[in-house]
Amino acid sequence: MISSSRKLISHLRTQLFIDNKWVNSKSGQTFKTINPATEEVIAEVQRASTEDVDLAVKAARTAYDNGPWRRMSGRERGQLIHKLTDLIIKNQANLAKLETIDGGKTITDTTYVDLPLTIDTYRQYASLANNIRGKTIPITGPYNCYTRYEPVGVCAQIIPWNYPLLMQCWKMAPALAAGCTMILKPAEQTPLTALQIGDLIVEAGFPEGVVNILPGFGDVGRDLTLHPGVDKIAFTGSTEVGLEIQRNAGMNGLKRVSLECGGKSPNIILDDADLDCAVTNAHTGIFDAVGQCCIAGSRVYVQEGIYDKFLEKSVELAKVRKIGDPLDPETQSGPQIEESLLEKILGYVHKGKMEGAKLVIGGNRWGSKGYFLEPIIFTDVTDNMSIAREEIFGPFMSILKFKTIDEVIKRANDTKYGLGAGVQTTSLEKAIKIVNGVRAGSVYVNCYDYTTENTPFGGFKQSGVGREVTEEGLANYLECKTVIIKTSQDTL
Ligand code: NAD
Repeated sequence: MISSSRKLISHLRTQLFIDNKWVNSKSGQTFKTINPATEEVIAEVQRASTEDVDLAVKAARTAYDNGPWRRMSGRERGQLIHKLTDLIIKNQANLAKLETIDGGKTITDTTYVDLPLTIDTYRQYASLANNIRGKTIPITGPYNCYTRYEPVGVCAQIIPWNYPLLMQCWKMAPALAAGCTMILKPAEQTPLTALQIGDLIVEAGFPEGVVNILPGFGDVGRDLTLHPGVDKIAFTGSTEVGLEIQRNAGMNGLKRVSLECGGKSPNIILDDADLDCAVTNAHTGIFDAVGQCCIAGSRVYVQEGIYDKFLEKSVELAKVRKIGDPLDPETQSGPQIEESLLEKILGYVHKGKMEGAKLVIGGNRWGSKGYFLEPIIFTDVTDNMSIAREEIFGPFMSILKFKTIDEVIKRANDTKYGLGAGVQTTSLEKAIKIVNGVRAGSVYVNCYDYTTENTPFGGFKQSGVGREVTEEGLANYLECKTVIIKTSQDTL
């Protein structure tokens, strides 16, 4: 495993990808990307600067305004996306391993979740590229009216570190299907898999300038957001940065903006739930991906009749969770992405105790190197505590007790977020009442975070603007043009 990892790392792309070429940053600056399981430096990556942003926007602008890309049919764009998908499939084992090394996600997750979802989503958009259809619209008089959909233009796409390949795909696939050109800014913690896709873009045959990739920090995202040559911003990341992007996107013109932001999602366990199923769904809902998932079910509301049994079984399950080397297929929990997040999570352990909640398991670092944490469960949590209100982004379950369904719907909605929600019950009526009552972009009944290439994804309230995946995601990258043709009375 170690020697194959070394070989993988020795062939890495670490430069900027502009106009289908690999180039160094104009500033000459680089940054280190770290393996969070070992704390070792994996690679030195070129750090994009303002000058590089200008060059990448120019390449994307030229490709959009004058290149062969604009003249390609949806069918041809779809064929290129199919080729790209074939290449991702050919490279999937290496991409999964690299995703694990760079971001600390378990090899089981990257192999069986991230890569398959990425592949299926690219396939989905390869088909949708040839299915972008307007409408014919009846209007009064000697007129013919129809709509056609056109690409929105040059897109800046800014993504986080928790699902690097999948977030790249959720941004790039619909933009390619629509006929846009793009500059993708991967997260500074996980630039590597995004960069390897650059080679596959060239190999698939995409014209120059259609896809540009700029590794770097938040300043690159900000420069892109403010750049007058950019027509649309697509962002996934924290609500704080999302708010800043929304403000900046209006500084130099009226850019289109779609945002996928944070969450503090409730998972509601009713007395009549299948106990083992509810315990498992609550456990995976927060502890999978070590809680570094925007839609993690971090607020677990448990009805009073099932509370004690639920707690006992949840603690048992958390105790046997296998923490360790994310490259080991047996491992269920890898490290947090970086030390600062680990410290932030431990800070919430302290806050939880100070605010009067009860720590029943975890709260310590695991192992002697790497950013590992034991699963954390707090009970006796109340709605006003910071561990019930703030996004922690760690393996941190806050359990809250409730009595009635009307009460829990109200409490579940008492948050600025609205990304996901779960309901665990054997009653269809109760499930539907909660589904209709909670303000969230995705609601899971008797499961949690089941996301596919066919399920739109996004948030209510401060969890985001717009939806990604499926036709809903494609709409972010299209402009609707209404065409009205006057004809003679004879045509009526
Ligand atoms: P972040 O907001 O710190 O960073 C996200 C990206 O934005 C990075 O590429 C970063 O370099 C860039 N950035 C930072 N400052 C910027 C600025 N001023 N202007 C433009 N770009 C800037 O988020 P993160 O820590 O990387 O990711 C974790 C967050 O992402 C969590 O809040 C999580 O809930 C959210 N997330 C949401 C979804 C979703 O679909 N809703 C999915 C994954 C992650």
